[in-house]
Amino acid sequence: MDEDQNTEMSAEAVVSLRDLTRFLNALPAPFVVYDVDERIIVCNAAYQREYHPLEHRVVPGISHSELQMLKIEHGLDSDAIGREEEFLKTEQLRHRQGPAIEEWEDDTGQFKRMLRTRLPDGSVVGMRFDITDLRLAERELKDRNERLKDTQRMLASAAMVDDLTQLANRRAAHAALEDIAARSSDENLHVGVVLYDLDGFKQINDSFGHAAGDTLLREVAARMTQFFGPEMLVARMGGDEFLVILTSGQDGYPFEDVVLKSIRHICHPALINDCELHFGLSAGIAVDCSSDIAPDKRLAMADTALYSAKEQSGNSVRQFDEQLRQKTQFDAQLRHDILSGALADQLVLYFQPIVDAANPARVPSAETLVRWDHPQFGLLSPDKFLPIVESVRAARKLDEIVLDRTLAQIAKWQNEGFTVPKISVNISPQRLLDEKLLESLTERALPPDAVSFEILETVFSDRCNTTLQWNLDGLHDAGIELQIDDYGTSHSSISSLLMIRPSRIKIDRQFCGKVAESKEARDIVRLTVALAKSLGISVTAEGVENAETAERLAALGCDRLQGYLFGKPCPAGAFQHMLHHLRTAKTA
Ligand code: C2E
Ligand code: MG
Ligand code: MG
Repeated sequence: MDEDQNTEMSAEAVVSLRDLTRFLNALPAPFVVYDVDERIIVCNAAYQREYHPLEHRVVPGISHSELQMLKIEHGLDSDAIGREEEFLKTEQLRHRQGPAIEEWEDDTGQFKRMLRTRLPDGSVVGMRFDITDLRLAERELKDRNERLKDTQRMLASAAMVDDLTQLANRRAAHAALEDIAARSSDENLHVGVVLYDLDGFKQINDSFGHAAGDTLLREVAARMTQFFGPEMLVARMGGDEFLVILTSGQDGYPFEDVVLKSIRHICHPALINDCELHFGLSAGIAVDCSSDIAPDKRLAMADTALYSAKEQSGNSVRQFDEQLRQKTQFDAQLRHDILSGALADQLVLYFQPIVDAANPARVPSAETLVRWDHPQFGLLSPDKFLPIVESVRAARKLDEIVLDRTLAQIAKWQNEGFTVPKISVNISPQRLLDEKLLESLTERALPPDAVSFEILETVFSDRCNTTLQWNLDGLHDAGIELQIDDYGTSHSSISSLLMIRPSRIKIDRQFCGKVAESKEARDIVRLTVALAKSLGISVTAEGVENAETAERLAALGCDRLQGYLFGKPCPAGAFQHMLHHLRTAKTA
């Protein structure tokens, strides 16, 4: 814009228009004002440059259509070539009614934004910006977001895959179960969640190494996928545990049959590093007709069924049923009662006599056997609640209570003038591994020769524990008699003799109870007695239920006998009568 073109205006106005023109020319963006007749009132140098090399023609007074004609005549706009009339029309229309903001990309790849403002007097102010940088930045941002999404998708799929076997992992299994739960309206959908667990996998890992264990897991994964096909979800839940989700309509196969068939397919020896690895497979199935079941609940049901299958010797299948549901509820109730502290007040001590084999009227010893007098379930034997006590790590506390009550009972009997036999108390592995065991016994100041401890030989399975050894040494130093309970029931029997150094072993009733009818049982007892005697260890026989068994066991060298023949475990009062009866039988 030429500053001299404004000479007809007032001096004051000239000054301000000159300044304005200066400012406008400093703007890099084209700026123009058209009057109501579509003629330029003012424009800046950038606007004029748009018409290069005809800048000098772009001056106040020239009309919008004359400018468009210039473009056409001099070929300034490639868009106009060959469609001049149409170009003129659209440009005119755009000038008059065009949108307030218009954006486009030109031939050179530059992005432009046009702001058009119509003032009340009909004049039009136009300004155009180059927004190429903005658009490129936006495009870059969009690309980056896409790349980020791709990466996220990749990570998400990696998070769903088990590294070792390339099966779906626990997270994917959970997601699939969530998906099933969301299809609650699908009444015909039967869902069976199957949890598989290898039997003997630990031994394979221990004997052949973890690399062989990993190869076996991959092999099992491949066999499972082959059996179930790509339609079924097969996942590795971790360790040697796998999951399969079976779905079928109402007339589908019973899931248990499918699972048994799958085990037959999967469970044959695998040749790994030139070794034939043998393994078993157990499975727990949770079947429910309603699909609207939370994944955790389904998994817990399958897990309970699997646990039960494993307990039944392994290589077996168990379906979650009403019996297991009740057992789960029962266990949960007991767990709750133990954790809430209700157990302590409801424990009851029973006592069972242990007699001299040569003279059963002599009762040198007795065993404390705990019971839980549960307000809802009645009198519970230890096999019902001890595993739960152990699972919540309360066995140490329970043994402490039993010992305290036993000591209190002994003191009470002594005060009454009753001749109390030496009482043996069962000690759980958890208590034997307790660092504070010796300290707690010192605090109690056990009366000399009043009690002995029964220790399960299994305490040594897989354990080489310094606390355990320290405690055993401490118990020996304190002069407390140690007995090995249920002798012969684990593979650590013989080594436990050397580790525990007991003064007595109690041969388990699975051998003693059969000596009358089984030669093998007699041989085992005979050899065990010989081994014990050679080490200076005395022998008690458990589970003596009849006179013939008692005679045989005495003849085989067991010096003490325990069993229903002499008396079943009973509460303190009844025990006193029982002992009186046994002792008077001697004098009779
Ligand atoms: P255990 O120490 O081997 O106790 C002997 C078990 O055999 C007792 O079962 C007893 O009732 C049973 N028994 C005794 N004589 C005969 C018989 O002639 N025939 C048959 N069939 N059974 C007989 P119970 O009382 O159910 O105790 C089971 C186990 O629970 C005990 O086995 C012991 O390991 C554990 N236990 C009992 N009380 C305690 C305790 O206070 N603390 C700990 N840690 N464990 C305990
Ligand atoms: Mg015992
Ligand atoms: Mg026993």
